[in-house]
Amino acid sequence: DGAVYCEVRRPCRLMLLLNPNSGRGQAMSLFTTHIQRMLTEAAVPHTLVITEHQNHARELVREADLSQWDALVILSGDGLLFEVVNGLMEREDWEVAIQTPLGILPGGSGNALAASVNHYSGTPMLLGEELLVSCGFLLCKGLLSPMDLVSVHLASGQRLFSFLALAWGFVADVDIESERYRQAGALRFLLGTLVRLASLRSYRGRLAFLPVHQEPAAEQEGRVARLVASTSSISSDNDSSPSTSPPDSPNSSFCSAMSCGPLTDSSPPCSALCPENSVHSSSPSPNDNNTLHNASNNAIKLLQAGSDQTTSLIKGPPDSLLSPLDEPVPADWTQVPETGFILMLAMYQSYLAEDLQAAPEARTQDGCIHLYYVLEGVSRAALLRLFLAMEKGTHMACECPQLVYHQVRALRLEPLSTQGALTVDGEQVECGPIQAQIHGSVARLISS
Ligand code: ADP
Ligand code: MG
Repeated sequence: DGAVYCEVRRPCRLMLLLNPNSGRGQAMSLFTTHIQRMLTEAAVPHTLVITEHQNHARELVREADLSQWDALVILSGDGLLFEVVNGLMEREDWEVAIQTPLGILPGGSGNALAASVNHYSGTPMLLGEELLVSCGFLLCKGLLSPMDLVSVHLASGQRLFSFLALAWGFVADVDIESERYRQAGALRFLLGTLVRLASLRSYRGRLAFLPVHQEPAAEQEGRVARLVASTSSISSDNDSSPSTSPPDSPNSSFCSAMSCGPLTDSSPPCSALCPENSVHSSSPSPNDNNTLHNASNNAIKLLQAGSDQTTSLIKGPPDSLLSPLDEPVPADWTQVPETGFILMLAMYQSYLAEDLQAAPEARTQDGCIHLYYVLEGVSRAALLRLFLAMEKGTHMACECPQLVYHQVRALRLEPLSTQGALTVDGEQVECGPIQAQIHGSVARLISS
């Protein structure tokens, strides 16, 4: 596809950040075996930076002269990109800085974004070094896609930016507990899942969200209440009554209304790595309009709340959909009555791990958080079936009555159990009330 290559300006200077301790500690040898030659043959000048400690990459990109670099690429797991995204968003010039093209090469044990990028390119699921080579090719092609970021507020007042997922309960516990099986590489998540299944527990909490598609409030509340009531007892494995309406098709209206439309094999490239080909508007979605009247008030309240907290970073786009964490959620949100959860998983990329397509409909720039939760009452066998189905992304077809899926723009979770980890992009954060909202197309990802 010569036309695609013509759009890439050469030479293009990459800063390649590598975490030598990611995965089984093999990122450096993955670089020399697969990536170095590929970049040389594609005539892509690059500077390798090996991180020396946690948050090294975050500090480095916070201070870097970004005019020196055409892209920041990480060779690690998702955790190192999380550092880079947050380092960029902590800068005074965050709005320009976060437009620096970001690339991902899988070298960790949690390579969800790399698996997602490979999926968006139309390539079948790949694991390990095959996934790395595929992502290396996409990097050399240098096509860019806008990427949504989710702004996350923690109880301490800290604000973070997330590109992948928020997880609580089962999934987050597996992520954290499986650290001890790090030497098993990506297999650590399977081991962790089996261990946690054996001692399955539920976590009490309150969840609220702002749906993308509003349905009449009375209907919505009635449906959620019925669902919680019907699943609060242990259900049999044969119970197959559907718990939600089927998810929208990938070509549903909000997705195709985005600037580049749904990503398919035949879609024209969004833009290439060179700035002159990469103009993108990120106009607010029409769905945001119904909440705009609250927006400025909420933003001011949040800023005021933030200014009382030394840990808060007030940089970044204002979160116009959120009210302060110590106040009730806005009236147009849906409340799930307080109940027991097995897990909550809010995804904005399609893959949660190399072999887990947890949110098959998610795309980097759909302006949408794909919110899944599993209520207590699910059997171990049914939960295992869900995770097995996730390899192909067919878990909604299991019609598990405790599994609920919504497309949302914002959410708030208040954990009420002392147990249960909370993770942002696979990194553990303080357990406590947390809320988040999506910001469409804020960043740019080297994708397809
Ligand atoms: P993995 O997928 O194997 O967990 P990550 O990229 O997520 O790989 O990195 C794991 C953790 O290591 C992250 O919390 C990241 O911030 C941290 N980290 C980054 N560089 C280093 C380093 N040089 N030494 C130790 N930890 C690091
Ligand atoms: Mg990680």
